[in-house]
Amino acid sequence: DTTHGVILYLEDIVVTFDGFRAINKLNLNIDKGELRSIIGPNGAGKTTMMDVITGKTRPDSGKAFFGQTIDLTKLNEAQIAHAGIGRKFQKPTVFEQLSVFENLELAMKMDKGIWTSLRAKLSGQQRDNINRTLELIRLQDQAHRPSGLLSHGQKQWLEIGMLLMQEPVVLLLDEPAAGMTDEETERSGELFLSLAGEYTLIVVEHDMDFIKQISGGRKVTCLHEGSVLSEGSLEQVQNDERVIEVYLGR
Ligand code: ADP
Repeated sequence: DTTHGVILYLEDIVVTFDGFRAINKLNLNIDKGELRSIIGPNGAGKTTMMDVITGKTRPDSGKAFFGQTIDLTKLNEAQIAHAGIGRKFQKPTVFEQLSVFENLELAMKMDKGIWTSLRAKLSGQQRDNINRTLELIRLQDQAHRPSGLLSHGQKQWLEIGMLLMQEPVVLLLDEPAAGMTDEETERSGELFLSLAGEYTLIVVEHDMDFIKQISGGRKVTCLHEGSVLSEGSLEQVQNDERVIEVYLGR
C-alpha cells in the first residue's frame, strides 16, 4: 500500500487579482497516492489553484505544503517542479520531429541541452526505464515514429510519459480528456487508474463520464468562487444541492 499521509496541504489560500479574490480561503488536503478529481464551473479558481501549487502564482496569504516540510509559497516554479510536482497543460507540447522514444529520452535528461542529451549514450537501465514508460502509456508500437504523426490522444499520453520520466511524486493534469475521442478518453482513464497509488494525481476535468470512470469511490472536489463547495464521493458531490445549483444544473 503506497497510500499514506498528506502529500499536498493547502490552508486558507487567498489569491487576488486587482482586488478580486480568484481564490478565497481555499482548503485542500490530498493524500499520497490519491487520484483526485477537481470539478467546478468556469471561473471557480481551478486553474489558479494549480498555479499556486506549481508556483506560477504566489498566494496573498495561506499555507501550501508539499509533504510535511516543503513550503510551496517559498519556492519558484522550477524548484517546485524539481521537488516532484509535475504539471501537464491542455495543449500537448511534444517535439514533433523527434520519435516517441527520443521525446521520452529527452524528458529523462531534461537538465542537459537537447544536443548533449541525444548524443549521450543510454545505459541499459535508462533504456529499460523508457521502455517501461512506453508500455505504461501504450505507445510501444509507435516508439520509433516521429511524434508529430501521433493522434491527439497519443500525443497527450506521450506528454504524460515525458512527465513520468522526470520521476514526479504529484501530477497535475488540466482537462486531460479534452479533444479526445471516446475511446481515447477511456484509455486515458485506464492510464490514470494504473498510475494512482504509485503517483498522486490531481485531475481538473469537465467531462463527467470521465470523472465517473476515474473516481470510483475516490474523493471528488467541487470548487466554486475560489473555495471548496463540496467534497466527497462523486455520488455525494453530484447530489449536493449547492453543486446542482451552481454547476451541474437540474
Ligand atoms: P477556472 O480554471 O476554474 O475556470 P480560473 O482560476 O481560471 O478559474 O479563474 C478564477 C477567477 O480568477 C476568474 O474569475 C478569472 O477571471 C480570474 N482570473 C484568473 N486569472 C486572472 C488574472 N491573471 N488576472 C485577472 N483575473 C484572473
